[in-house]
Amino acid sequence: MQSQTMPAFSPVYGPVTSWRYGTSLGIDPIGLRSTCSFNCVYCQLGEIENHTAQRGVYVPTGEILADLKDYAPWLVDVITLSGSGEPTLASNLGDILGEIKTLTHCPTLVLTNGTLLGDPEVCEALGQADQVSVKVDGLTDEAIQRVNRPVAGFNFQDFVAGLQGFRGRYQGKLGVQTMVLMPWSASMIEEYSQWMKALGPDEIQLNTPTRPKPQQRQLEGRGNHRLEDCGYPVQRLKCVPGEILSAIASQVAALTDIPVKSYPLT
Ligand code: SF4
Repeated sequence: MQSQTMPAFSPVYGPVTSWRYGTSLGIDPIGLRSTCSFNCVYCQLGEIENHTAQRGVYVPTGEILADLKDYAPWLVDVITLSGSGEPTLASNLGDILGEIKTLTHCPTLVLTNGTLLGDPEVCEALGQADQVSVKVDGLTDEAIQRVNRPVAGFNFQDFVAGLQGFRGRYQGKLGVQTMVLMPWSASMIEEYSQWMKALGPDEIQLNTPTRPKPQQRQLEGRGNHRLEDCGYPVQRLKCVPGEILSAIASQVAALTDIPVKSYPLT
């Protein structure tokens, strides 16, 4: 059997250029084994290897800080916790955020799938981030099951309650990121807009799966890997054209009065 070679792991990667946040230095609190409470059909990490909602220390805080020091003076727009899975599964998330701020004084951002927002410890840890962006790909349990494929035991009502509770207490800038897998009908735009208006994020981000899905786990998948640069087998995913996404974004913005960004840009 052909063995898969994986580059040496560092919990710090990039900087990468993000369409939403500018120049972003990535922090991976999860490690070599992709670990997430979702297994999204479009995940750029490939199929999730460790499908779990179990929190734990996956990468020690000291290891992250030691590598982060090498990137001084951190001339980036933001330091982003994302990486090889769901960052709120890291039970040292609060420590990591606090230590990053003390060391770098840079703005911090956490990208999360929102499944653990019902946990007060997770919300408290996220409270230390300057920005949080939560994934909302579906407005029903059926849609989330189909697109995000959560771990057994996922409860849609608890997910919504966690999201609403977090919105109520979080003082930083809250974004909602939604992956658009097919053009939306007028009624879908209406329903989504009502949902967002009720939630009240500071920003909505609509995108489509422009990054390929590796057929096997690749550490590079946590960054901006592009189809043309991948030296490994990937699945190309169907994207919604940028002009359609941009039109949906304009309608959602008009219906909600919330700023909406979309990518690809037109
Ligand atoms: S939530 Fe993010 S890391 Fe987890 S499976 Fe979905 S895209 Fe991948």
